[in-house]
Amino acid sequence: MKKLSLEDKWMRKVAALYPVAKGSLREVRRNCSRPGCATCASGKMHTAWLMTFYLDGRQCSKHVPKTMVKTLKKALENGRKLEEAMLLSGLAMLDESKKK
Ligand SMILES: [Zn+2]
Repeated sequence: MKKLSLEDKWMRKVAALYPVAKGSLREVRRNCSRPGCATCASGKMHTAWLMTFYLDGRQCSKHVPKTMVKTLKKALENGRKLEEAMLLSGLAMLDESKKK
């Protein structure tokens, strides 16, 4: 059997890292603007999820629907794995170049 090249190994690894995203997810509590809201009146406030990220050097945030929280957490975890994989890929390329 043919030995896998570094590129083949990379393609396999990356294919398994979907969904993928980069940023951070946080839960925020806030008051809504509805007059007479019972939740706000009780002091409990409303919870919402935000993803914050950098785009062209600027910090941005985007609302995350509750139904997407689980998927996004997985995507962010895959994003961290992808960054680690890139680092290891560079090291492996350098190591392999020494063998030739
Ligand atoms: Zn409210």
